[in-house]
This record gives sequence, structure tokens and C-alpha cells, in this order.
Amino acid sequence: MAQTRQLDDSPTAEGFLPRRDFLRTLLAGIPAMALDWNSFPRGPSVARTGGADYDAVIIGAGLAGLSCAAAFARQGFRPLVLEQHTVPGGYATAFKRLGGFVFDVSLHSTGAGERAGVHDLIPGLPEIKGLEFVPHPYLYRAIFPGFDIRVPQRNTAKYAEILAGFFASEKDGIVGIIEDMKGLARDINRYSQSGGKADMATFAKDFPYLVKCSGKTWGQMLDARIRDPKLKSIISALWGYYGLPPSKLSAFYYALPTIGYLEEGGFYPKGRSQAISDALVKFIRERGGMVKLGARVERVILEGHVATGVATADGTEYSARVVVANANPIDVFESMMDEKEYLKDYLAKLRKMSVSLSCFQVFLGLKKDLVGELKIPDSEVFYSPGFDDDAAYRSLLEADLRDPGFGLMLYDNVYRGYSPPGKNTINIMSLQGYDHWARFEEDYGNGRKKEYRAERERIADILIKKVEEVLLPGLSGAIEIKEIGTPLTNWRYTRNYRGAIYGWDQTLDNSGPTRLPQTTPVKNLYLAGAWTQPGHGYGAVIPSGLQCFAEIMKSWKEAPPR
Ligand SMILES: Cc1cc2nc3c(=O)[nH]c(=O)nc-3n(C[C@H](O)[C@H](O)[C@H](O)COP(=O)(O)OP(=O)(O)OC[C@H]3O[C@@H](n4cnc5c(N)ncnc54)[C@H](O)[C@@H]3O)c2cc1C
Repeated sequence: MAQTRQLDDSPTAEGFLPRRDFLRTLLAGIPAMALDWNSFPRGPSVARTGGADYDAVIIGAGLAGLSCAAAFARQGFRPLVLEQHTVPGGYATAFKRLGGFVFDVSLHSTGAGERAGVHDLIPGLPEIKGLEFVPHPYLYRAIFPGFDIRVPQRNTAKYAEILAGFFASEKDGIVGIIEDMKGLARDINRYSQSGGKADMATFAKDFPYLVKCSGKTWGQMLDARIRDPKLKSIISALWGYYGLPPSKLSAFYYALPTIGYLEEGGFYPKGRSQAISDALVKFIRERGGMVKLGARVERVILEGHVATGVATADGTEYSARVVVANANPIDVFESMMDEKEYLKDYLAKLRKMSVSLSCFQVFLGLKKDLVGELKIPDSEVFYSPGFDDDAAYRSLLEADLRDPGFGLMLYDNVYRGYSPPGKNTINIMSLQGYDHWARFEEDYGNGRKKEYRAERERIADILIKKVEEVLLPGLSGAIEIKEIGTPLTNWRYTRNYRGAIYGWDQTLDNSGPTRLPQTTPVKNLYLAGAWTQPGHGYGAVIPSGLQCFAEIMKSWKEAPPR
């Protein structure tokens, strides 16, 4: 007889992993999580903190740190967020330059603001309503040699038709791979709605797509359906979003968000990504929480192997019932504490995990409406000079830009008024390895930036010329403001190790149960953000912060107030 029960540790039919880990692998990459707020304890917590200054100290005001703090504040607890930068948001920030230009540091597109037709909310925090998300006119445009494809918003059937128009003999495969992606999303939704319960006897039958895609790279998933290497590369045009080529990227991490974009659309918030971060900060402060900017945490204070607070660079100590690190875990465990022996195994694990690529960005303010003059309707464009994604990845790792591809954001086509009247704001982005920039590290830290600046100008010129050649003739002559971000810039403003933009690489080894959980070997120290489960991206890190809060609440429910 079929049994319904909680996940257990019995071996899977495949025999590779204990059942619970197998299922957790299957569930990696879930983009949003529904929280049952009523199930959590509530503050006020003066008595609960047991004399500590705060209920929670959060290191870092990235989206995950802020969403975690927002959850504490929502429940009436007292969180304190300490952020080293003078602006909250981590990568979800914007910066101003002369001429009225305001540049987004990261966001191109997200499904985060859109759930079931409601597009002004942050998943898990429905009380935050002040945000307006607008759809991109097209999901994206992909330009390859001989192919120029506009992917429509929320019309997967049309997308399949466009692809089949180019590759008639692959029609069944195209329908098949889309069905695989949809099936995977369906299985995951059903599974998560079941509240983590599954009937083991019929699991493979109940969740066939989950089982089928598990343990596969996106490349393997594609190989099962598509033969033409050009088509494989075109369908994988978004791999830059996830940081790895199909041969290395976990299938879940491509298939799930991509089908989410295709079916539900890609959005962008009015007021840029900064608006999301600011809305979270406002929410926290209105409920008595604190967000302190320009406060770099240097040390996690431990008593025995229990975290009791943090110390900032100016020597101030803050005690708290729990510490949550939105900062990268390598810094947290290697430099913010001296527990090499106690953390031996954990540190060894961290050192083995591969870190995601960084990026190189050119932010341009144009003195005229070049995009309008050229009648280009797109907001997001991916250009690839070829179809060999592995070769492209190797070039990016080495910062070899002899024949570069690029991602291009034309923000004025997302919403009117993005730039000052008659001007354009654009961003050219290329993924990039850190090693090329490591040689400038010391000089950069000491303010000796002459050679560093020359190198970044050289690379920026290559990218600008490429965009000019492929899409925007006259670009060089239209530039009013140019700002350049390198892997070292990423490190400086977010302290992400090696300027990583997606935390750990999203390989099979670094996804699911092998991606770091929110809990750590140090009691009362938790993690939230792109380096942890479920992964990177706006739609994942906000849930990661909430998941972290939920994890902490598990022990608070069990433990009586101190
Ligand atoms: C160029 C670029 C484009 C992207 N495009 C998209 C996109 O289109 N869609 C999408 O969904 N995702 C995109 N992403 C990914 C997304 O931006 C990230 O996954 C997400 O913002 C990471 O959030 P986080 O909370 O994990 O941490 P982070 O944003 O990395 O924030 C960590 C915070 O911790 C702070 N901190 C670190 N150390 C300390 C310390 N010692 N003391 C105090 N504070 C500290 C940092 O200053 C920072 O504010 C992009 C990323 C980049 C870089």
C-alpha cells in the first residue's frame, strides 16, 4: 500500500544518495518559497534576547541580508543590519553620475516581482507593495552568426515556433525540451505544495520530470532532445545569467528559471534594483529594525563555538541572539574568526568548492537617444560570435576578448523616463574570470590605479567597438558618461570573494544539498545569500534570506525564552 511520509534517509532506487539528499537535490533551485508566518514566534523580544543588544545581527545588506532582517522585523523582533558600503543592496544597488544618469549595478531581468499576475510584490513579503515591476518589451533578443531571434514575453509556443522556423527537422526536440522544462517546474510546484511530503512508493511516477532531470547538466538534458549544436547554443543563450556553459551547469539551474522567464515573463522594477533594496530597508526600519551603513564587520564574536555577536572595524561590539552572514562565507570563516581546527572539515569543503565568474561592465550615458534613432525596440540583447559555449567560457575565464560576445541592456526601452530626456542609459556586460585582475589587487588596494585603469579602458574599448559593430553604429561618438566596473570593483563594493557575481559555481557539485545550507557548524551563526541554497539571482536570494529566518525560528520555537 502507498505510504505518505516525511523524507527519510533510506537509499534511493538509484542507490547514489540517501533518499532525503536525493530529494533535496531534486528540489534545488526552487525560485520562491511560501512562508507560513503564523507558524513563527513573535517579538517583542527584550526578554528573549537575554540581555543581548539585538535578536539578530546581519552582516551585509544584500537582498538576502535585507529579506532576512525584514522577516525578523515583521515578526516584531529586533534585527540590526551592518553594511560595509554606504548604500544598501549589495549588487542590488544603483549609482548616480553627472548628466542625470543613474546606473543599475546588476539587474537586467527578474521574475521576482511577478507571482500569479500580481507584479508589485516581493515573494514572501506581500506587505511590501510600493514597488512597480514593468515587463521587458521582449524577453530578450539573441544574435548569433546567421540568426537574430526576438524571444517573446509569455508566449512559449511562439518561441518554439520561431525556433522550429529555423530548425524544421528539430521540431519534435524543441517541443520536447520545452515540455521537459515545464514538467520540471510543474513537478517542483506540486512537490513544494505537498509541504515536503512524498509517497516514496510512487515517487518516480508522480514526479517523472524531477527524476529525469536530477543529476544532469543542462547540456545533458539538451542532448536528450536536440541534435543540432547551433540550436543547442541558441536555446542556451541565457547561460550568462547562470555563469556556466551548458556542459557544466546543473540542469535545474538553467531549466527552472528559464521556463519561469518564458512562461511568466521578465520584469524590471521602476526605480531600478535600488528600489527593491530601499523598500526592504524602509520595511525593516518602520518595524523597529536597524540598518547601519558604512559599518564593516571584522569579527564574529564567539563564546566557545557559539556566535554571540560581531565587532565592526571601528571596534564597536554588537551582541545578538543569532548572527546571520550575508557576506561571503570564505571571509566569514577564514577571516572573521580563528577556528581553523574546529572548522577543519568545513573549511576543507569550502576550499574545494569552485567560485563563480566575476564580470566586466561598461556603464554608458549617451548624450542623445541613439537607441530611438536607430529604432531598436529591444531592452536586453545577447550577442554571441559563435556556437561553442565551452570555448566562449574558456575565453571569459581568461579575459580573452579577441572575439567577444556581450550582454547589452538598453534601459530606455524598459520604461520611459529611465534617462534624462533625449538621452540613453546602456550597460555592456561580459562575464569575466578574476585571475586576469589579481595582479592589480595590491595596487588597487593602495590606490595605485594607473595600470589597472589602462587595462580596464582597453577592455571597455573592445566591448564598445563590438556593440557599435553589431548593433549600435555611432555609439562611440554618442558617449557622454562612461563608467567601468571590473572584478575588483565588485569585490570593493560587495566584498564577494574574487568578485564573484553568483556565489559558488552552479555545477552539479555545488547545487542542491552540496550548496551550503543556511546552518553552519558554529551555533547561532547562519548564512543567507547567493553562496547558499537555493542559489543566486533576485528570485533565489530573497527566499534564501527568508529560508534562513525560518531555519532560525525552528530552534527558537523549541527553545524557551532565555
Ligand atoms: C552584473 C550583474 C548582473 C546580474 N544580473 C542579474 C539579473 O538580471 N537577474 C537576477 O536575478 N540576478 C542578477 N544578478 C545576480 C544578483 O544580483 C545576485 O545574485 C544578488 O543580488 C546577490 O544578493 P546577496 O544577498 O546574495 O548578496 P550581495 O549582493 O553580494 O550582498 C552582500 C552584502 O554584504 C556586504 N558585506 C560583505 N562583507 C561585509 C562585511 N564584512 N561587513 C559588512 N557588510 C559586508 C556587501 O557590501 C554587500 O552589500 C546579477 C549580478 C551581477 C553582479
